[in-house]
Amino acid sequence: MSTNRYAGKGKRFAGRIYRLRVIGLGIGFFCVASVFYLLHASPWLWALLVFHGFVWPHLAYRAALAWQVPYQGERCNLMVDSMFGGLWVVAMRFNLLPCVLILAMLSMDNIAAGGMRLFLRGLVAHLAGFAIGAATLGVTFEMQSQMPTLIACMPFLVLYPLALGWATYRMSQKLALHARESERLSRTDGLTGLWNRRHWEDLLAVEFERCRTDGAPCCLLLLDLDHFKRVNDTEGHAAGDAALRSFAHFLQMTLRPGDIVGRYGGEEFAVILPGLKLVDAHPMVELLLLDLRMRTGNPDRALRCTASAGLTCYRPDMTDFTAWMMETDRCLYAAKAKGRDCVVMAGERGTFMSKPGAQESMARADSRLSL
Ligand code: GH3
Ligand code: MG
Ligand code: MG
Repeated sequence: MSTNRYAGKGKRFAGRIYRLRVIGLGIGFFCVASVFYLLHASPWLWALLVFHGFVWPHLAYRAALAWQVPYQGERCNLMVDSMFGGLWVVAMRFNLLPCVLILAMLSMDNIAAGGMRLFLRGLVAHLAGFAIGAATLGVTFEMQSQMPTLIACMPFLVLYPLALGWATYRMSQKLALHARESERLSRTDGLTGLWNRRHWEDLLAVEFERCRTDGAPCCLLLLDLDHFKRVNDTEGHAAGDAALRSFAHFLQMTLRPGDIVGRYGGEEFAVILPGLKLVDAHPMVELLLLDLRMRTGNPDRALRCTASAGLTCYRPDMTDFTAWMMETDRCLYAAKAKGRDCVVMAGERGTFMSKPGAQESMARADSRLSL
């Protein structure tokens, strides 16, 4: 069974046009009516004008919603409006001000709704309206606009552009909001709310350049949860997801506000530690691992696994941020190989691992990190 992928599209568009049409045709009625009054127009022309001004907007809205794609229905309705416009021009005997005003406003609607293509189609619909008018009423020219007509055109001239401008402004505000929101979503990881890998790497590239130009110190930390697969295997994927969220929250609460935390992959997290030398970052990471280890024993069991860590600092001989990343990854790999739940570091003086038990002694000696 084939379904139209645009089905249902344009309901809000139809709603917007409906409000504008009620206003536009409602006040446009008085422009045409003022000329009809002076020309002693026939009752059927009056009836048609009342229909177009006050009945058609509601019918058009319902008709658009009845379409499988309301947006297409609304474009057809705009063509009906344009055709009526052509008819009114002939019926008003080309009375200059209301004719120009009506054609200009209708064209403005068509451009706003469908760009140049709808504008051109609108011109064809105007011509169709002219033809119907010419065939039924004949063509007579009485182009001069009288004072009552000028006055009757004023509300249309002033109010309708205001309404259209307001609707356009509101729509652009909504679009800007959506654009901001989708940009935010494209940068964050859906599960944890941390930066996603792509955006985090962009931030790392910026930080790398900053280190290169300013010579400012900076460390890079990679964390991988230990035996995380067991959580999934024994407690299910949902529990695994919850554990990942808890770990992300733990990192945000534990690290400094300026540290840049991202989810690098499944159960792998990456942190940029700006302004820190290895000698400063090391105790921070040791305490973080210690705290995590203690929390894995908590009764609520929100944090299920210990973590292994690779920690490096920026060095001027690094060619680019990927080299920095690879070195940190090698450290993380070494931490796994050394039995997990520990940190392996690489700095100016080569790669080394902190001694077992260093975290506990550091916890006693250093209270810089209050968790
Ligand atoms: P190691 O200590 O060597 O890191 O062991 P591990 O089990 O943590 O590592 P491994 O790479 O074997 O398994 C990682 C698991 O993480 C496998 C995958 O199912 C799980 N994982 C990755 N992303 C998600 C996720 O978004 N949600 C859940 N629940 N699990 C995930
Ligand atoms: Mg793991
Ligand atoms: Mg992993």
